[in-house]
Amino acid sequence: EQKVVLITGCSSGIGLSLAVHLASNPSKAYKVYATMRNLDKKQRLLESVRGLHKDTMAILQMDVTDQQSILDAKRNVTEGRIDILVCNAGVGLMGPLEAHSLDDIHAILDVNLLGTLRTIQTFLPDMKKKRHGRILVTGSMGGLQGLPFNEVYCASKFAVEGACESLAILLQHFNIHVSLIECGPVNTDFLMNLKRTEPSDEAQKVDAHTRSLYDQYLQHCQSVFQNAAQDTEDIIQVYMEAIEAQTPFLRYYTNRALLPMSSLKLTSMDGSQYIRAMSKLIFSAPNTGPHM
Ligand code: NAD
Repeated sequence: EQKVVLITGCSSGIGLSLAVHLASNPSKAYKVYATMRNLDKKQRLLESVRGLHKDTMAILQMDVTDQQSILDAKRNVTEGRIDILVCNAGVGLMGPLEAHSLDDIHAILDVNLLGTLRTIQTFLPDMKKKRHGRILVTGSMGGLQGLPFNEVYCASKFAVEGACESLAILLQHFNIHVSLIECGPVNTDFLMNLKRTEPSDEAQKVDAHTRSLYDQYLQHCQSVFQNAAQDTEDIIQVYMEAIEAQTPFLRYYTNRALLPMSSLKLTSMDGSQYIRAMSKLIFSAPNTGPHM
């Protein structure tokens, strides 16, 4: 019997790659419901699965900020069950905190945190009833450690960590496994899609010292993405490890190079070592002036 998988945020990036990978399984082991907020963007996914049969993939509209669209998507799952739920939709928000509008802050929390909770809430009762299921979530190093100029994004991803860890404890009593696939930088549209503060807001609301530190951060960020970003294929491999494991872990890390920094939080629990190390990493490079 096919495993029924529903994935959010499949118009690009990790969601698209995972949908294509599962739908291309040679023994047709998966039926993938690739969902996306805006069906006008389905072309890229369709081009990637050209030649595949209807029996391994269906595309559904689903906006994780819209409860009705989640319910409609659920109703359109013809098998009447989801074996593997993948909460992947997410957006970034970058810039000095005081330059963000409250609307932008709400919008990020609505997608990353509330969107994940709404999605899990909607599919959880059936999984519990069946005493069977997997919930996989695209996590982020930004959910494990703070990053300057990413306060709201990190807040949303830390919150998702808390929700998943809490659920994992309960759901083992229902034979439901929760796994976070923790990603470092990945080559996707993420950087392009993330919200940034408007330069005019920045000039008005942000002091010169913060602005120059933000410049340094952007430079750091650009070089990290250039030198250390993974491809979606690397992420999918880790996803498959979690999907195929008999008893999956709560956390999988796609990029081991990022772990030492994160583990400083455990070795020095007062936070001082992590803050010092991250600050040095980001802000000690010579500032070569405006860029990006
Ligand atoms: P991406 O921008 O290509 O993909 C994000 C997807 O989420 C897009 O398809 C977008 O349309 C969708 N989305 C946004 N709002 C939505 C909504 N309201 N309803 C449904 N879908 C919505 O970037 P990606 O890198 O593939 O991001 C996927 C996940 O990976 C995100 O949760 C992101 O936070 C996480 N992540 C990405 C990176 C990275 O460096 N790219 C690093 C760590 C974690």
